[in-house]
Amino acid sequence: MNYPDRFDVIVIGGGHAGTEAALASARMGCQTLLLTHNIETLGQMSCNPAIGGIGKSHLVKEIDALGGAMGLATDLGGIQFRVLNARKGPAVRATRAQADRIRYKAAIRGMLENQPNLTIFQQAAGDLIVDNDTVRGVVTETGIRFHAESVVLSTGTFLGGIIHIGLDQSRGGRAGDPPSNALAERLRALPFRVDRLKTGTPPRIDAKSVDFSKLEEQPGDTPTPVMSYLGSRDMHPRQVSCHIAHTNERTHEIIMANLDRSPMYSGVIEGIGPRYCPSIEDKVHRFADKSSHQVFIEPEGLDTHELYPNGISTSLPFDVQLQVVRSITGLENAHITRPGYAIEYDFFDPRDLKHSLETKFIHNLFFAGQINGTTGYEEAGAQGLLAGLNAARRAKQLDAWHPRRDEAYLGVLVDDLITLGTKEPYRMFTSRAEYRLLLREDNADLRLTEKGRELGLVDDQRWKAFSEKREAIALETARLASVWVQPTSPAAAKIAEKIGKPLTREYRLSDLLRRPELDYADLTDLPGLDNVLIDDEAVAEQVQIQAKYEGYIERQQGEIDKLKRHEAMPLPDDLDYQRVEGLSNEIRQKLADARPETLAQAARISGVTPAAVSILLVHLKKRR
Ligand code: FAD
Repeated sequence: MNYPDRFDVIVIGGGHAGTEAALASARMGCQTLLLTHNIETLGQMSCNPAIGGIGKSHLVKEIDALGGAMGLATDLGGIQFRVLNARKGPAVRATRAQADRIRYKAAIRGMLENQPNLTIFQQAAGDLIVDNDTVRGVVTETGIRFHAESVVLSTGTFLGGIIHIGLDQSRGGRAGDPPSNALAERLRALPFRVDRLKTGTPPRIDAKSVDFSKLEEQPGDTPTPVMSYLGSRDMHPRQVSCHIAHTNERTHEIIMANLDRSPMYSGVIEGIGPRYCPSIEDKVHRFADKSSHQVFIEPEGLDTHELYPNGISTSLPFDVQLQVVRSITGLENAHITRPGYAIEYDFFDPRDLKHSLETKFIHNLFFAGQINGTTGYEEAGAQGLLAGLNAARRAKQLDAWHPRRDEAYLGVLVDDLITLGTKEPYRMFTSRAEYRLLLREDNADLRLTEKGRELGLVDDQRWKAFSEKREAIALETARLASVWVQPTSPAAAKIAEKIGKPLTREYRLSDLLRRPELDYADLTDLPGLDNVLIDDEAVAEQVQIQAKYEGYIERQQGEIDKLKRHEAMPLPDDLDYQRVEGLSNEIRQKLADARPETLAQAARISGVTPAAVSILLVHLKKRR
């Protein structure tokens, strides 16, 4: 049957990409249908119940800054929060939250159900309606035909999914869910380049069978960090500790003795797995000289005894998994509640996508999430938001939007994917961003919320909170620059105590804040100064970071401006790229093949990075 109502946007798949896509499209006023296998699994975490971490929390905060759900759901579901790299510079600092998977899922579902313009329907999509190389709608596996202007496909690991436990295989999208085979076949018949990837998950353990006295406790941070710009500690449920255990030589012996029963090592699995999140058999095999690996024992929630042993993802047979787990100190009597497994699935070469995440072959069809070769909830959510936004803009006949590499990690993620493609599951790292001093997790709102408001993604409540914060930062920054500390004043004496030497001249408070020995809090209670400091932590943090890193930030911004100014610079016909020092051979070859006429054209060639463009610019200037 033809469904009687027509939609602007249809999103297929209610995972992390699909839920952000559907919410973004609906927030922009588009009538949106979220079509998913099972309403009970909306926002389900297939693997680790944790959000954020290095490079990833940057994406969560960007999603949040653009009005998305992931940050707030984390604050509503997070049971342990920590700041990673707290002692390092702000560019690489990252927030990580252990989530209660049931509470997280409930938070996402609540946001979806309460979102105006959004309709949810439970059924598997089996086919796309395509006419004249343009997608017109979706047909479910029972034959219901839904029509829309644009469609977002975000089916995760479900396309042609095969689950491996030892040498046993079964078809599935993840444990307990069916695969999407009809849709996978249909997509394989379209002109996309398709390949296989794999990922894995560890066995889960019953906490009642663990001896915690033998494990090292790892509590969350105090004060508890917050994920969303609209979040607060009051939103957090009860906080709990994680624990740390270790594999040992016995564990490694068991694994090595059973490698022939591993689907990865016996050649049964062909897909490539995530290099940065390897299985325990991979770690033991690749790092044979290491006699121990850390295992983080993480609670799955407040109302369950199940634990997630982070670090022993495996596809070894169940009997070996049990031996491996029980070889670990503290887990000698552990009961496994669910076996670990690996899953192989179809993904599409993201080089067949535009920056908007629209496919190059089928108009109005957008791909987001794990099907683009990424791994991780955060990477999926960020792409979902962008795809939902652009699907909605297409339905409204507006031009696509995407952030640049110097504006957002989301810009880096999409640019990397569509220009370089990927041979292994792609995850975000701060090292992927060349402008990471500008792209900090603390300033995602300052970078993106105004744009999000203009795009129709940011509601009044978020806009008001953001505008007040931005104004408070500006006022406080100006105030610190206008208050002087005289060298002979009592305030100077107090500062001298803190920095261990006297002030020899007058200083502005803003100058003092730049000193490494002083923090914003040190500027409170300076005698003789009417110096009431802001008690909003986020404002104080921003004022401090902007003051301390002003020089570096300006330098990085200068580089970006310089590149923009030189975009029209011509590249001589006789330029020998082999002689340009500092370029990789791959980039030299690409430039030699394409022979771009200007620097801007060179920058648009897939795989030519901003760093390479900078090198070219320096080379051209030397030639003059
Ligand atoms: P998913 O979250 O998989 O959501 C897909 C959604 O689409 C589901 O709701 C599904 O029901 C729905 N769907 C599928 N087909 C259809 C259809 N035909 N019609 C309607 N609905 C459909 N990430 C990490 O960062 N680290 C890890 O260690 C890690 N390990 C993993 C281990 C396993 C076993 C799995 C399965 C995933 C793992 N991941 C890991 C990946 C992480 O789960 C994904 O990156 C993330 O969930 C991707 O989000 P997504 O929205 O693209 O897809």
